[in-house]
Amino acid sequence: MTTKQKTVLVTGASSGIGAAIAARLAGAGHHVVAGARRTDRLHALAERTGDNLHPVQLDVTDPVSVTAFVEAAHRRTGRVDVLVNNAGVMPLSRLDSLLLDEWNSMIDVNVRGLLHGIASALPYFTAQGSGHFVTIASVGAHEVVPTSAVYSGTKYAAWAITEGLRQECDPSIRVTTISPGVVTSELADSITEPGAAQAMRTYRAHAIAPDAIAAAVSFAIEQPDAVDVNEIVVRPTRQR
Ligand code: NDP
Repeated sequence: MTTKQKTVLVTGASSGIGAAIAARLAGAGHHVVAGARRTDRLHALAERTGDNLHPVQLDVTDPVSVTAFVEAAHRRTGRVDVLVNNAGVMPLSRLDSLLLDEWNSMIDVNVRGLLHGIASALPYFTAQGSGHFVTIASVGAHEVVPTSAVYSGTKYAAWAITEGLRQECDPSIRVTTISPGVVTSELADSITEPGAAQAMRTYRAHAIAPDAIAAAVSFAIEQPDAVDVNEIVVRPTRQR
């Protein structure tokens, strides 16, 4: 590897934003380890992208799986330079729908999954004296609307955890939060409450391509070591 090539781990790389991040960074010559549960999707992405992208099965709700994911990357290249905590779910609903399993799944993936990633990568970053955490939060980390209470709660938490990490980390470690607006992906497909699903079809009518978020990740990680891009919000121009 050249000094500019980084070992980058991307969680939730089987579709949408994570797939776009993995593809863009692999295309730029970085060594990308792409994780998700649907490994068939990861292998198809690797075939399209080339030798720089390595699929690894990953369930971010399981700390053992996340540790193995980070270890796999380290075994392959001897480094772990960037962890993009991207995996997320968004089964929106009103609180009076009482969809407790869906609320818990958002907490498990969007919050616990992020914490598992931090816990697995931080020891490598500390030992190396360098590293970069990138959290894919959301505009939902900055606003709450009806049906988004739990999802926004998880994204506010992701924002807060990442900001705390930035403040606590050794200055050799960089920390970035990227908050997308509406982006084309499978994210809204898991909404089971009919009212929330209908509202999202209207809300998501003007979406931008996932590569817009990948470009923001690329910008953050390719800055010189002394530059830490703390936060980026990327919305469609038409989104207010
Ligand atoms: P997608 O549904 O297209 O992608 C979600 C990804 O997360 C998939 O690759 C999925 O992989 C993965 N994932 C879900 N659960 C797990 C798990 N337990 N373990 C590992 N991976 C998991 O949605 P997006 O690309 O849109 O979402 C990516 C991120 O962007 C999320 O954090 C989302 O909240 C955020 N975001 C998206 C916006 C949008 O408009 N699209 C707006 C704001 C934020 P698999 O199922 O194969 O495991």
